[in-house]
Amino acid sequence: MVWKNIAQALEQQLAPDEYRMWVRGLDMPQWDGSTLTIYVPNQYYLDRLSEKVYPLLKDLLQQQAGPEARIEFSIRTRDFVPPPVPAAEPARLPAIAAPAVPAGQAALTAGLNERYTFEHFVVGDSNHYAYAAAIAVAQNPGDTQHRYNPLFIYGGTGLGKTHLMHAIGHHVLQQRPHLRVVYVNSEQFVNDVIVGIQQKKMDEVRLRYRTVDVLLMDDVQFFSGKDQTQEEFFHTFNTLHASHKQLVFTADKPVNDLVGFEQRVLSRFAWGLSADIQPPNLETRIAILKKRAEEMRAYVPDEITYFIAHNIKTHIRDLEGALNNVIAHAPFTRQDLTVALVKERLKDMVDDTPARIITIAEVQKAVADHFHLTVADLKSRKKSNSVSFPRQVGMFLARQLNDEVSLIEIGSEFGGRDHSTVLYAFNKISSELEKDQNLARIIAAIKERL
Ligand code: ADP
Ligand code: MG
Repeated sequence: MVWKNIAQALEQQLAPDEYRMWVRGLDMPQWDGSTLTIYVPNQYYLDRLSEKVYPLLKDLLQQQAGPEARIEFSIRTRDFVPPPVPAAEPARLPAIAAPAVPAGQAALTAGLNERYTFEHFVVGDSNHYAYAAAIAVAQNPGDTQHRYNPLFIYGGTGLGKTHLMHAIGHHVLQQRPHLRVVYVNSEQFVNDVIVGIQQKKMDEVRLRYRTVDVLLMDDVQFFSGKDQTQEEFFHTFNTLHASHKQLVFTADKPVNDLVGFEQRVLSRFAWGLSADIQPPNLETRIAILKKRAEEMRAYVPDEITYFIAHNIKTHIRDLEGALNNVIAHAPFTRQDLTVALVKERLKDMVDDTPARIITIAEVQKAVADHFHLTVADLKSRKKSNSVSFPRQVGMFLARQLNDEVSLIEIGSEFGGRDHSTVLYAFNKISSELEKDQNLARIIAAIKERL
């Protein structure tokens, strides 16, 4: 009753914007006869509330309950209902998944694509590490040890960064529907900051971004050269991170390669865990196509999936485009869906110059150059790690890049070694590749030389 009267008086005495922003969304405060406890979602909210509303609030309370009455603030994250998005600007501001909304509904309001879930994500060597990190975050958002906070996922376009990020959001909302998850494209954040400054509504923007439990911010390379955005981002980051809220970012390159960024912003990106996504290999491309065909309930013969996967090596988006194209134009009977027909359909996407055959000698040259060794070193009997590791990488690549060539041939080209030595090297490097991002980068760099 005490609070009801106070809230009514506040509504009359505050500007409508202020009332909506600072009072209306509050949980029911608790009154024990002498102290009014007001629950707020975080420190930022508390600071603003004390600054803007506290003096008036105290007067009103003491008028109601006598000069001894006190106000206490308590930070409580759960059960907090955020103030509604102002009707005039629904599209620009990211929607907030409010508590008590069924999970599916929450995902909708958080701006998540329903297909971008972990279930629909195919895991392979190229994305295994980022996937594992995303699962860890999704299961334990805002982990108190900050091991994965922020999670920074990077890689080229169309490789599944956005998909993984949405998957985190879906999983969190499914497990903990009371959490507020916000997905935002960096471009939109930049826009919000600009409009916020122009229309003097930064408080509103801050409230929106600083009172979430999981912030998913896509394509942060877009902040490059945008000083005010970076300033705002920096404080948003600090507020959320300090209160153990989960942050996830994606970018098209690793933190160290981003240009046009303040050092302090880069250092924040690098605080937690970075995980990269590489272009998928043939097996993963085939698996993705099969999964998509299955989702679309379309029958696509294996040789056609293989043909597409073999010929389209760029983006996963292109792979899907090719598959859609084939399915959309598929003839009525299965027998008619031939490779020749598909080749014709996809002639703009497929490069039909025959694949270049990469020889063992070429691999050896590239590996030697990368490690600043000579080809003779690779063929030698030297056993020091600085030579034997590059040699194993060489054997691995010779095999991986040309499956026509036999283990025996590779062994003989690498100084007359046994085929079991080659097999051992191949398996060792393959399994290390799954865990070691640094090795993945080395391999990618050598491939670039070929
Ligand atoms: P990015 O954000 O890295 O540019 P997206 O996440 O938008 O890439 O992915 C592009 C398309 O490829 C999406 O339709 C996505 O579902 C699909 N995709 C990417 N990686 C995978 C994967 N590992 N398994 C299944 N689909 C994937
Ligand atoms: Mg993306």
